[in-house]
Amino acid sequence: MDKKNARALSTFGIENLLTRFVNLPAEPGDSGPAQQFRDLAGELIDTHLGCDRVPADRYCHFVAIFRRVWKARTIAQKKEASKRIEAIFNRLAALPAIDRPALAVDFTSELVISIRFATAPLLDILAMTLIQHRNELGLCERRHCPAPYYVKSHPRQKYCSHDCANLIREESKSRWWADNREHFMQKWRRERKGR
Ligand SMILES: [Zn+2]
Repeated sequence: MDKKNARALSTFGIENLLTRFVNLPAEPGDSGPAQQFRDLAGELIDTHLGCDRVPADRYCHFVAIFRRVWKARTIAQKKEASKRIEAIFNRLAALPAIDRPALAVDFTSELVISIRFATAPLLDILAMTLIQHRNELGLCERRHCPAPYYVKSHPRQKYCSHDCANLIREESKSRWWADNREHFMQKWRRERKGR
């Protein structure tokens, strides 16, 4: 973790950074949002460890892996997601031992993992946070939500934000009115005639 990483972590909190990250584009193309994330949160892998920095157009590769975890439902999907996250940690095998967190990942078990946050690169901290919140990963039920990946604050939460929940409430109200409007208008006309 570098200074910029640390500042972003203390300003926004790790859950916020995780959801910002997982809502970045998951396919190659527009790397603008990834660049913005890097400006905000610093490098995914700090270069002082002798690694190359992750270019913005490569962020989608990691975002896609994180989304796999988010969406994994079956045992097979969870096993697959586990391997991908494990590969993120295992890339550190090339680093000096002091910076290398050694661990195994298995989303199908109740495994508890710890990591030395102070020395871990942002990418690993994000991956650790993903693991910690593995049972609270939510997908906003509002269609076309611009940032649908979120961490649930309670188990029955359906929407990523108050904004989305309010929009859905308004939409269902106006849909109800559209569906029932004619019925009420007829009733109202009948009543007026009857007077
Ligand atoms: Zn939403």
